[in-house]
Amino acid sequence: MKQYEMVVGLEVHVQLGTKTKLFCSCPTGAFGAVANTHVCPVCTGQPGVLPVLNRAAVELAFRAALSLECELAEVSIFARKNYFYPDLPKAYQISQYEQPFATRGRLEFALKDGSSKSVGIHRIHMEEDAGKLLHAIGSEELDHSLVDFNRGGTPLIEIVSEPEIRGSEEAYAYLNALKAVLQFAGVSRCDMEKGEMRCDANISVREKGETRFGVRSEIKNLNSFKNVRDALEFEFRRQVEAVEAGQRLIQETRLWDAARQATFSMRSKEEAHDYRYFPDPDLLPLAAEAEWISRVKSGLPEGPVARRSRLIKDFRLSSYDCEVLTSDRALADYFEAAAASSGAESAKTLANLMTTELLGRINAERVEIADVPIAAPHLGRLAALVDKGVLSSKLAKDVFAKMWETRRAAEDLVAELGLSQVSDEGQVKLWVEEAIKANARAAEDVKAGKDRAIGAIVGAVMKLSKGKANPALVNRLIKEALGC
Ligand code: ADP
Ligand code: MG
Ligand code: ZN
Repeated sequence: MKQYEMVVGLEVHVQLGTKTKLFCSCPTGAFGAVANTHVCPVCTGQPGVLPVLNRAAVELAFRAALSLECELAEVSIFARKNYFYPDLPKAYQISQYEQPFATRGRLEFALKDGSSKSVGIHRIHMEEDAGKLLHAIGSEELDHSLVDFNRGGTPLIEIVSEPEIRGSEEAYAYLNALKAVLQFAGVSRCDMEKGEMRCDANISVREKGETRFGVRSEIKNLNSFKNVRDALEFEFRRQVEAVEAGQRLIQETRLWDAARQATFSMRSKEEAHDYRYFPDPDLLPLAAEAEWISRVKSGLPEGPVARRSRLIKDFRLSSYDCEVLTSDRALADYFEAAAASSGAESAKTLANLMTTELLGRINAERVEIADVPIAAPHLGRLAALVDKGVLSSKLAKDVFAKMWETRRAAEDLVAELGLSQVSDEGQVKLWVEEAIKANARAAEDVKAGKDRAIGAIVGAVMKLSKGKANPALVNRLIKEALGC
C-alpha cells in the first residue's frame, strides 16, 4: 500500500470582542436577543448611509496580528465582496481582499507527543459578519424563511493558515492554540457555541515524499473542533480511496454532516461565486501609525506560552499541569487567584484539585469558569488544608463536592461536618490494633516480609475511621505494631 499524507490549511473566523459593530454603533453580542432589535440604517444597508470604522475593532484585530507575529501592512484597503443572498442587505460584504492588514505570521504549539509545531499564518483580514436566516422556529419547520440582521455588521477577522498542517490531531491542536492566544490577548472569547469562532478546513492528500499539492476540497459547517477533526479524518479516507481507485478529484466545497459523520459535495469550483471585489469608495485606506501600533503592542497581555513558562518557574509545576492550566485564560486566572490563598508551597496540590476535581465538574456540568460555584480563594485554602495534613486527599474530594453544592468555605465545612483527618496517635493506635486482630493472616504475611499484605490492614483502619485516619501515620503505626 502507498503511504499518503494529509495537507490541511484552515480558515478561521473570529468575532472581535467589541461592544459595537464594525461600521455603526449598534451593539454586538446579539446572540439570543429578539430578532432585528440590534439594527440601524447602516447595518441594514439603507440608501444614503455611510460606514464609520470602529477604532476598538481595529485595535483588537491588530492585537491578534501582533500575537500571531504577523507583518503589519502600512496601508490596508477595505473591499466590497459582492453577492446576492438574503442575509446581506447591501448585496456586498465589506471585507479586505488584495491588501489585508496583516500577513506572514506564525503560530507555535505543542503536540500530544510533546514535540512542537509551527504553522505559518498566510494572512489576516477584517470583515463584517452577515445576518442569519431562520428556516424553523423551535422544532417547527417554516414554509418560508425569516432573516435576523442582529449579527450583520459584527466585526470579524479571518485568519488564514498556510497549508502546513499535516493531520487531524495537528489541526485540532492548532485550533486550541489559536483560541488560547486570542483569548489571552483579549481579542475574543472564542465561544464556538455562540458563533464567535468558526472554521472552514481545506484538505488535500498526496503520496508521502511528493512535494506538489493535491486537489483540495474546502469543508464547511464545522461547528466544533471535534467536528473539524472528524471531518478531516473522513475526508482523508475519502480522497485516498478515490485516488487509489484511479479517480480524478475535483476542487469543490463540501459540507460536513455530523449526524452521518460524512462530507457531501455542495458546489464545484466551476460553480463558485465571482465576487467582483473592488475597493470600497466609502472607506478610506487604513493606515496605522507606528506609534499607535507600538502602544497596542506594549499593552498586550501576557500570552499563553509566556504564562506557561512563568507558572512552571513560579510554582514549580510540571509542564503538563501548566499546559492544562493555560489552555484557557479564565482557568489560568482562576489558578493564580487560588494560588494567592493557598501559598506557592501548595500549588501542586491546588493544580491537582483543578485538573481532576474542578475540570471534571466543569466538563460534566458544562459550566463556564466564570460560573464555578467555588470561589478561587476557597479552593486555594482547601489545597492548603490538604498540605497541612488536616484533610487526606480522599476527604478533600468530599469537601470539594460539598463546596460545589453549598458555595461555602472549606474550613467551615470541615468544622461543621467533623471531617478533619485524625492524626492523634492514641486514637489511630486503637484502630490499628483492632484492624490487626481482624486481619491476623495479613499480619502474619507482613511479618514474613510480604509488604503488600499491609494494604488489607490499612484498608481496615480506613473503614474503622470512616476514611479519616492520617494515612502516613496509619502505615507507620502498623509497621511499629508488627515490629517491622
Ligand atoms: P481561496 O482563495 O480559494 O480561499 P487560498 O489560496 O486563499 O484559497 O487558500 C485557502 C486555504 O486553503 C488556506 O488556508 C490554504 O492554506 C489552504 N490550501 C490551499 N491549497 C491547499 C491544498 N492543496 N491542500 C490543502 N489546503 C490548501
Ligand atoms: Mg478563502
Ligand atoms: Zn447598525
